Amino acid sequence: MEMNINTFEQLHCECISKNKAIYEVAQENMASSADISVDEVRAFTNRSLFAMKEAIQTGMLSRELSMSGMCGQDCHRVQKRFEAEPAIFGKTFEKIIEYALATSEENIRMGKIVACPTAGSCGILPATLTAICEDFNYSEREQINALITAGEIGRIISVKVALAGAVAGCQAECGTASAMSAAAICQLRGGNVSQILNASALALKNLLGLTCDPVAGLVEVPCVKRNPFLAIHSITAVELALSGVESKIPIDEVIDAMEQTGALMSPTLKESSQAGLATTKTALEVQKRVFG
Ligand code: SF4
Repeated sequence: MEMNINTFEQLHCECISKNKAIYEVAQENMASSADISVDEVRAFTNRSLFAMKEAIQTGMLSRELSMSGMCGQDCHRVQKRFEAEPAIFGKTFEKIIEYALATSEENIRMGKIVACPTAGSCGILPATLTAICEDFNYSEREQINALITAGEIGRIISVKVALAGAVAGCQAECGTASAMSAAAICQLRGGNVSQILNASALALKNLLGLTCDPVAGLVEVPCVKRNPFLAIHSITAVELALSGVESKIPIDEVIDAMEQTGALMSPTLKESSQAGLATTKTALEVQKRVFG
């Protein structure tokens, strides 16, 4: 029977009382609410996983610029550099940066991506999940478990805060994506329920107040490059949580703070392109060039 879970405290209680992982509770609830089997939920999740990997592969090969000409070749630049000189943090770090850029650049080319949770933040979770699964040989079953875990984190955040830059700034888009990514990777790395929720809280807490000020109103700058930054940010949260570092503010209260912060942010910094990066001298020149 479907359980009405709208807070992380409820999710935590349900997992502990039934001795289940987050993905087990989530997949059973999804199956029950959509009147389908758990196997169907997992098959659907696997299709999303496949689409994420397809976007990465396509994005890694393309050099097509976006309509504005501002973005589309950074993934290629980074690949070329790593071929010549390895990154300080090693191969998995290289892949996370490349995959996040590849996916985000596919988005600005209007290619097929998986919004997770939104198109602007679509590179964060696929990049960490794919790179880490490749380098640490996680099975398809484990990848699906991780993606369902991430989905449950995004779903519960969305109960309280609309996942849109126009409503709550980029903390709601890339911030939520980073929290989802932290949960997925913490699940993969053997984190327990508390550690997974801590990882998400730590990721989100450190992104509160992130503005949404896209140049020329396009989901290109700062969006594309924000994805690799926040993918790496989510891994920091995982390593802290797995080491026993706790968020002193529980995740439900972090979401309350995110909701309040979003409401207090000026509308000029919530996707309206009326302030911040969008009104810099260079941004205004871009806007004039693109739209006349
Ligand atoms: S800056 Fe705004 S448009 Fe760009 S990803 Fe963040 S929320 Fe989305």
